[in-house]
Amino acid sequence: MIPATLTRSEDRSGALLTIDLAAIVANWRTLKRLGGPGCDVGAVVKADAYGLGLVPVAQALKSAGCTTFYVAHIDEGIALRPALGPEPRILVMHGPNPGTEKDFAAHHLIPVLSTPPQIKAWRGFAHSSDVLMESVVQVDTGMNRLGLTAAEFESHVANPDGFLGLHPLALMSHLACADTPEHPMNARQREHFASALSVFRGKFPDAKGTLANSSGLFLGRAFVFDMARPGVALYGVNPTPGGANPMVPVVRLQAKILQVRRVDAAAPVGYGAAHLTPDGAKLATVSMGYADGLLRSWSPNGRAFVDDFAVSVAGRVSMDLTTFDVSIVPESALGPGAVIDIIGTRHTVDDVAREAGTIGYEVLTALGSRYTRRYLPAVRT
Ligand SMILES: *Cc1c(COP(=O)(O)O)cnc(C)c1O
Repeated sequence: MIPATLTRSEDRSGALLTIDLAAIVANWRTLKRLGGPGCDVGAVVKADAYGLGLVPVAQALKSAGCTTFYVAHIDEGIALRPALGPEPRILVMHGPNPGTEKDFAAHHLIPVLSTPPQIKAWRGFAHSSDVLMESVVQVDTGMNRLGLTAAEFESHVANPDGFLGLHPLALMSHLACADTPEHPMNARQREHFASALSVFRGKFPDAKGTLANSSGLFLGRAFVFDMARPGVALYGVNPTPGGANPMVPVVRLQAKILQVRRVDAAAPVGYGAAHLTPDGAKLATVSMGYADGLLRSWSPNGRAFVDDFAVSVAGRVSMDLTTFDVSIVPESALGPGAVIDIIGTRHTVDDVAREAGTIGYEVLTALGSRYTRRYLPAVRT
């Protein structure tokens, strides 16, 4: 029982973050339809499921039928394994740091091998400890970030021992420009990947191909291959930035108003006195700042809502506080308990990102830890 003297954490915190698990599941189903029957559409849950909570998000998707999960770091995989049980596949996209191969075996995690030393170390480990574990080989098809270069891939293929002892589940690559369908990189990377995959299948006929992220799934069936790795679209961010958003919104972020004041004469607001507010303006300050993920670069163009009224940030976002000009909002909407909707259906993650000069990925992964997080269940009763 909660002692009468202790208020609920929702009462104590400065903002509420509501995460709709049913919306995440609906988005996964949309992506699964797009992948078609031949494609294993998984879920990328790295970076704490893009800031929305690794365990609740992954468990909701597992219950909906998702069987393949992707994380970046091994520790994310170790945290995820007990939450999912033994069955689902967990791929660790950064692969093993030297000496951590045994941790992959212990937690039943599939490494993505991107460099010749990773491949060599994994082969040595598999051989000496007699493990028959799946791995994934990554090739670089033009992004120049991670994966075997074309020359490294060719030399591994030409060497009869190059991939010896591996049991590759798949060949993987990543698209640089999937959110820009007209970009010529897409077709070039697809070509390169398809030809590497056919060479790879000469050695490992059952190897699957995985190329598409969220936006890649929208480039057409030619980009889908056998396994897809969507992340951001699950969380409601638009994977087709040039057009309407096919995903449903997932996040609602509401900041509590701490203080409302009217300025009697034109006056500066906030640090640096950088913003001059007009005579008679009404200001509301909320309990939320850049330590909570409201980017400082959002200050000049930031917008939000109080009920149906659009309001603007006044002055600079500071560490724990942000002030809005709420002059147009009637007093009745600003009483005790009033909130400002920072993210919601009227004002999305993509809107906040545009105003801050960044992308939805950064807005989501920046979300802070001081909110009360409320999860709407995946299955409503
Ligand atoms: C993060 C990541 C993804 C997911 O990308 P989204 O654009 O969020 O869908 C897929 N593959 C790799 C290699 C990644 O790093």
